[in-house]
Amino acid sequence: MKRLLLLIACAMLAACATPSTPRPGSNPLFTDRHTADPAPLVVGDTLYLYVGHDMARGDEMFNIVEWLAYSTRDMKTWTAHGPIMKPTDFKWASRDAWASQVIEKDGTFYFYTTVEHDQTRPGKAIGVAVSDSPTGPFVDARGSALVSNDMTPQGPHTWDDIDPTVFIDDDATAWLMWGNANFYYARLKPNMIELDGPILQAELPKYEEGPWVHKRGELYYLTYASRDKSVSEDELISYATAPAITGPWNYRGEISGPAENSFTIHPGIVEFKGNWYFFYHNGVLTVGDQGGALGRRAVAVEHMYYNDDGTIVPITHTAAGVSIPREN
Ligand code: CA
Repeated sequence: MKRLLLLIACAMLAACATPSTPRPGSNPLFTDRHTADPAPLVVGDTLYLYVGHDMARGDEMFNIVEWLAYSTRDMKTWTAHGPIMKPTDFKWASRDAWASQVIEKDGTFYFYTTVEHDQTRPGKAIGVAVSDSPTGPFVDARGSALVSNDMTPQGPHTWDDIDPTVFIDDDATAWLMWGNANFYYARLKPNMIELDGPILQAELPKYEEGPWVHKRGELYYLTYASRDKSVSEDELISYATAPAITGPWNYRGEISGPAENSFTIHPGIVEFKGNWYFFYHNGVLTVGDQGGALGRRAVAVEHMYYNDDGTIVPITHTAAGVSIPREN
């Protein structure tokens, strides 16, 4: 009888319910801290994920204090490797661990990232750091910014030089692409830490920020955060395709977004063990007394699919994420 009463009481009180443990692979991926701007990298049988550590408090807009690395072999269970670097590890930078990407070349890992430059070159800048390990420690490869705000004076504000993505083409030429409001790109020297030629610019419909380049078959994909301010302040994810890394880029439409409770969204796309994944962030996670917000985001991942013609199937943001099997 006591047991029956308890069951009835519990049926009436949600608080009696057994705390549900998120299924491995469900979203957000990490629930003990706030993370933003996910950048995946595959090395052998392991997928590494680089994120910024969001530490905004109250109504503070952004306070991203360091970059963290995680890894997984099955997309379900993740290992936290802790901080790999903080902005002031670049001696010329002052703050702001904004969006980054790591790529490997000849066994060296190159970490391209956004920081606030010191007052000698005010504005956001792109630095590059190197390590022999995907989990660092990473050290500044140059002792100076790879790209600083003054190198793109055509930009409309001081934070146009953000969100680097790097791609090594089939001919081993590496390209750096970046930008807020304007989309910039430049060839890198074989040493990966110097520009090799002028900074170029391409026009992309509704381009805002957060470019991410990948290749599938013969087609190059440029995915980015897009925004039509006449419709909404929220960013969506759009993409374009091209027959070469240098374009011309053919706009293919919107595939995702907006993120829940965050006007920013940031794509990270990768093939891992034969399957494609789309990483992004939203603002739904509460940690302790800090609810999700623009400056307290949480990274997430979804299965990604292509149509037979190579176009990307629009992506729905889910709580289940990759905890559920892929569709065939
Ligand atoms: Ca600039």
